[in-house]
Amino acid sequence: MPTPTDLSSRSADEEKVLPKKTGKTIARLKELLYYRPLLLKQHCDMPKFCRERHIYTGYRPNPSSIAYCVRSMFHPTNETFNFWTHFVPLIFLAMRRRDLSIALDLDCQEVATLSAPYFAYSLGCCVLLLCSSIAHLFNCVSIQARHLCFCIDYGAISFYSIAATVAYSHLVSPPHCHGFDAGSSTLYIPAAAATVVLAHIVCCHTRFPHIKYRYVLRTVTYAVPFVLISLPTMMRMSNLIFNVATNETLHDGHYRYSQSGSIPRSSCGIAGALDDFASTKSTKGHCDLASHVFPTYYPAHLLLFLLAAIINMSRFPEKYFPRVFDVVGSSHQWFHIAIALGIIVQSFIVEEAMFDAIDSPGILHSVTWLSNITFLSTMGWLVSVSAILIVTVLIYTSILPC
Ligand SMILES: [Zn+2]
Repeated sequence: MPTPTDLSSRSADEEKVLPKKTGKTIARLKELLYYRPLLLKQHCDMPKFCRERHIYTGYRPNPSSIAYCVRSMFHPTNETFNFWTHFVPLIFLAMRRRDLSIALDLDCQEVATLSAPYFAYSLGCCVLLLCSSIAHLFNCVSIQARHLCFCIDYGAISFYSIAATVAYSHLVSPPHCHGFDAGSSTLYIPAAAATVVLAHIVCCHTRFPHIKYRYVLRTVTYAVPFVLISLPTMMRMSNLIFNVATNETLHDGHYRYSQSGSIPRSSCGIAGALDDFASTKSTKGHCDLASHVFPTYYPAHLLLFLLAAIINMSRFPEKYFPRVFDVVGSSHQWFHIAIALGIIVQSFIVEEAMFDAIDSPGILHSVTWLSNITFLSTMGWLVSVSAILIVTVLIYTSILPC
C-alpha cells in the first residue's frame, strides 16, 4: 500500500514530468509547423542539377528528409508558392468534381455515358495539379528524386493533354460540330496520344545538362500537341465567329429536331441542384452554342495558356530583377497561376458542353454519338498513354546523371 508520503512525492514528480512532456510536444509541433526557421541555401551552394536559372536564394538543401520537405510547405522557400499555386486549384477542382458527381443522375445510362468524358478530363486536371504540387514539394529529397519528380510532372502534362483530347473529342467538339471529315475525327485521339508521348520524351531529355534553351524547348514541345488538340475546337470557334454554324451545314440527319420542341427531351437529365445551371443551356441544340460560356471562355482559355507559355520562356521578372522575386513572384509561379486559371476556365467549357449534351433535345436519341463514347475511347486512352508515360519516366530517371 502506498503511504500518503509516497503519493505526495509521486504527484510532485509527475507535476515536474508532465509540463516537461507537454512543453516538448508543443515545441515539437512548433518545430514541425512553423517556428524553427528552415536552413536555406544560396544558388552557389547547390549541386549543379538543382539550380534554377535567375533564382539565387531560398533553396532547400539537397538531399533533405521527407519531413523537411513537408515542413517547407509553410516556410518561405523558392518552392513554397510553386507548391501552393497548384495545390489550391487542385482542391477547388476536386471539390467541383465531387459536387457534380453528386448532382448528376448517374443512374441514367445516357447521362452516365455523356459524363464519362468529363470525368476522364477531370481526372487529367487533378493528376496534373497533384503531380506538379508533389514535384515541387519533394524535389529536394535527392538529385535522383528531383529527376523523378520533374519527369512525372512532364508526364502529368501529357496525361492531362490526352484527357483534354478525350473531352474535346466527345463533348466540346464532337465530329458533327466542327465540320472535319470522319477520317480526321478517327485519327484525332491517336494523333494527339502520339504527340503527347513524344513531347514527354523530349521534355525528359531536356534534363540532360548539355541541353540548352531547355525552358523554350519544353514550352515549344508542349505547344505542338496543344495546337493539334485544339484544332477542332478552334474550327468550331471560327464557325461561330463567322456565323457558319447553322443547323443545315453542321448537323447531319441524326441531330436535327423540331424547333417547336416536339421531339422528347431527355427523361433523366440533371438532378435538382444543377437545374438552374442546366436551364441556361442552349435550347437550340448541342452545336449551336446559344449560351455565352463557350464564346467567352474559350478565347480566355487560349489567352491564359499563351500567356503561360510566354512567361515560362521569358523568365520575367526574375531575369531583370535578380534576387527580388526568388521566393514570391517568380515567373514559374505566374506560369502556374496562368495554367491553373486556364484549366479552370477550360473545365467550365467541358462542363457546359456536357450539360448541353445531356439537356439538348434529340441528342440522347443519337445512337451514333452515344455509341462512340465507350470505356476504351475515354479511360482506355488514359490508361494506355499513362502506361507509356510511366515507362518513359522510369527509363529517364535511371539514365539521367546524378
Ligand atoms: Zn511547376
